[in-house]
Formats: sequence, structure tokens, C-alpha cells
Amino acid sequence: MSTLSFPTLGKYIDLLVDAVCVVDKHGHFLYVSPSAERIFGYTQAEMMGMQMLDLVHPDDRERTLNAVDSIVAGEPEPHFENRYQRKNGEIAHIMWSARWSEENQCRVAVARDITLRKRAEAVQQAVFAIAEASHNTQDLPSLYRHIHQIIAALLPADNCVIALYDAASDCISFPYHVDQHQPLPATQHLASDSDYARLIRRGQPLLLDTARVAPTGENQMQARSWLGVPLVIEGRTMGALVIKSYSESAVYDDETLKLLQYVSNQVAAAIDRRQLLLRLQQRALYDQLTRLPNRELFYDRIQSALARARRNNEMLSLVFMDLDKFKAVNDNYGHPVGDQLLEAVARRLELSVRECDTIARFGGDEFVILLENIEHPQQSETVAAKILGQFATPFALRDLESNQIHLPITPSIGMAHFPLHGDNEKDLLHHADKAMYGLKNLQR
Ligand code: GH3
Ligand code: MG
Repeated sequence: MSTLSFPTLGKYIDLLVDAVCVVDKHGHFLYVSPSAERIFGYTQAEMMGMQMLDLVHPDDRERTLNAVDSIVAGEPEPHFENRYQRKNGEIAHIMWSARWSEENQCRVAVARDITLRKRAEAVQQAVFAIAEASHNTQDLPSLYRHIHQIIAALLPADNCVIALYDAASDCISFPYHVDQHQPLPATQHLASDSDYARLIRRGQPLLLDTARVAPTGENQMQARSWLGVPLVIEGRTMGALVIKSYSESAVYDDETLKLLQYVSNQVAAAIDRRQLLLRLQQRALYDQLTRLPNRELFYDRIQSALARARRNNEMLSLVFMDLDKFKAVNDNYGHPVGDQLLEAVARRLELSVRECDTIARFGGDEFVILLENIEHPQQSETVAAKILGQFATPFALRDLESNQIHLPITPSIGMAHFPLHGDNEKDLLHHADKAMYGLKNLQR
């Protein structure tokens, strides 16, 4: 094998941070400068004669061969980037500046290790992606899935768990749990000797290497490598983010820990933000006492339902309901008992309709029910009868002294059908309301 000599440069070449590599036309290394060892992990002597392509990451080989063809065809390549596999298995990102020497029938290339820069870019991208996901994802399960995907693009994280801690009940739940070998744990008291307790109570990251450490609790059979970081928001530990590896080829170290910890700040902020938005949404659209949709959400639902009914030439019905002499319950037993009754009424109404129907608390003791996909007014009459039937049994409640009381109560009901009684929500509500009060007045 022939080697090139660089008599003058040779004295100084070991000062270079980049590595000079010379490769013959068959792709074998003819020469590498001393810094190659720092970049690739092999000594100069080890690299001599090695096939360059064997060191290139399999996914980058085709691209690399295409670049080699252009270089050999006489087009110098000043900024080619690819990934190499270091002797210890780590991936190195390399930027190449290369050209073909016709005279020596070899490629001369300078390799710059850009691994740190690439990693910093990837972390930045992950942080942006998580922030973006917290804005664009509608619900928490999709946000968790998204976070897992983003982390898995950065680190070996096939198994990922998001645990949330509720300080009031001192319980931990697992709203996101992807694990090849462990079943989903139930919501549980945060046992003081568990790995999660160490994460959450101390607010410190935890790296378990099962080759060295006998793990505790949830972690018994198991992951070769277990890395957890607390999720902290404004000094409060809201939970933990855990990644696990069952493979010898992906063992976490302090570097992985730092990366996960860095990303975890954004993860905590994203979850906290989405939780807050969902709480606000819940408050804005649902009645806090009965947890039924409120008037605003009802208007939204009926508008969509009317649009669908118009498009498909379908019927829909509105049932307007007001409790009779409800004030007397408040007056005789106190407002909290009136509240209990409203809640109990809401639960009984749910038993009378299909899941797809909307029951809303309109205010006070008024409820409105939207029945979709109705084929004939008779069908809605049947639902109304079912609702009345739910009031046949008195409501079992607790009075202010916690004694059980049984309160009978009746509702008055009025109905309106689309398109029979109006083609918009205002007219339909007006009709149903009038029908209801007509009945109520008859009963007085
Ligand atoms: P009617 O038979 O004509 O329907 O009269 P009513 O006694 O049922 O009283 P009405 O429907 O006119 O008014 C409802 C009352 O419900 C008014 C208010 O004192 C009471 N109320 C409104 N909101 C709440 C609430 O959130 N909790 C409780 N406990 N009472 C409420
Ligand atoms: Mg009433």
C-alpha cells in the first residue's frame, strides 16, 4: 500500500483541529492526520487501509457515494455533511471539504467534527417543536404523544412515561405510558421508597443503570437503563418524565441526562399551559355545579346541529325544562340542598337521552336538551316522557345536618321541532320556552 508523505506540513499537522484524510480511488484510507483519532476514535494506524464506507452511517452511504462520484468527476465539495460511526459506536457528524487529486489518483479531504453543533441545533429544534406542540395540540393525550415523538428524535426513547403528581392527594398518575415490558401502573400514593418519589420529592434527576444498581419498585425486572427528570414549573414539581431502554446498545449517561433535563423545562411548560387552557375552556363552556354544557356551549352545539340538519334535510328537537317550585327547596332546606338537587337532576337527565344529545344547564333551574337525528316528532315525545319518568322517584339528598331526605320534584317541559317551529335557534327556543310556560301556568 502506498502512502503519501507531507514532509513540511507534517511537522505542524498535529496542531489541526480538523483531520486531513487521504483516500484511494477504491475508498481505502491512505493517510489520516493525528486528530482523526479524536474525531473517529480509531488510531492513525488502525485507520490505514480501512474502507471509508464501512465507517459511514448506513443511512448516509448512498449520499456519500454520490458525493464521491462528483468529487472524482472533478467537482470539489466544500461543505458535504454526513454521519460516521465512532469506534465506541457513537455517531459523529462530519463536515467535509474534499477534492480529487488526478496526479496522485486519490481524494484529499478535511474532516471537521460538527457533532456538538448538530446536537445543539437538534436540542433547539426539539425545544421549539415542544413549544409549538403546546400551542397546536388540542388535547393532552395528543400533546403527550407529540412530546414523546420529539424526544425520541433526539435520544433513544422507545419507552417514555409522563407521570403527574397531585400534591393535594399525594398521588401520582401516569397519563402517558409507553413501555415494551411494563403494564400501565394505576394512579397510586407516592410510596416514599419508589424511584418516582426520589424524582418528585427531591426534584432531582435520577439515572439508573441496572448493570450496576439494583433498582427499586416499579423498575424491578427490567430496563437496562432508566432515566427520569422531574417536571418543574415555577418551583413546583408537577410530575416526572422518564425514558427507559431495554437494549445494551442504548445506555444512558450524564450527557443524555443533561439533554433530557434541558428539554424537560419546555415539556413542563407545555403541559402546564395546555392544562390551564383546558381548565379555562371547561370553566367558560361548562356549568361548574352540574358539569353540563352551559348556555354558550349549547348555542355553539345547536348552530352546528342546525347546519347539519339543513344540509341533510333532517329534523331536530329542543326540550325546554324548568323545575316546578324549586325556590321552595332553597327556602325550606337551604341553598346547598338546592344545589344538590340540581346536580342530581342533571345526572337523571343524562339517563334519559343518548350520548350524542346535548343537555345544557341554561341557568337557575332551567335545562335545555337538544335531540338530533330525529325522524318524527313522536320520537321526541317519547324522550320527554322518559324525562318525566325520571322524576317519578323522589331525590335522595342530605340536609344541612347530613340527614337523608327524600324530595319529590316535578319539571315542566316544552318542546320545539326543527323545521316545524322555526328555522333558527332563537325561534325554536322561544317556541319551546312558550310551550313550557303555557303548561306551567295550566298547572298553577
Ligand atoms: P316555578 O315553579 O314557576 O318554576 O318557580 P320556581 O320556584 O321553580 O322558581 P323559578 O324557576 O322562577 O326560579 C328558579 C330559582 O332557582 C331562582 C333561584 O332562587 C334559584 N336558583 C338559581 N340558581 C340556583 C343555584 O345555582 N342554586 C340554587 N340552590 N338555587 C338556584
Ligand atoms: Mg322553576
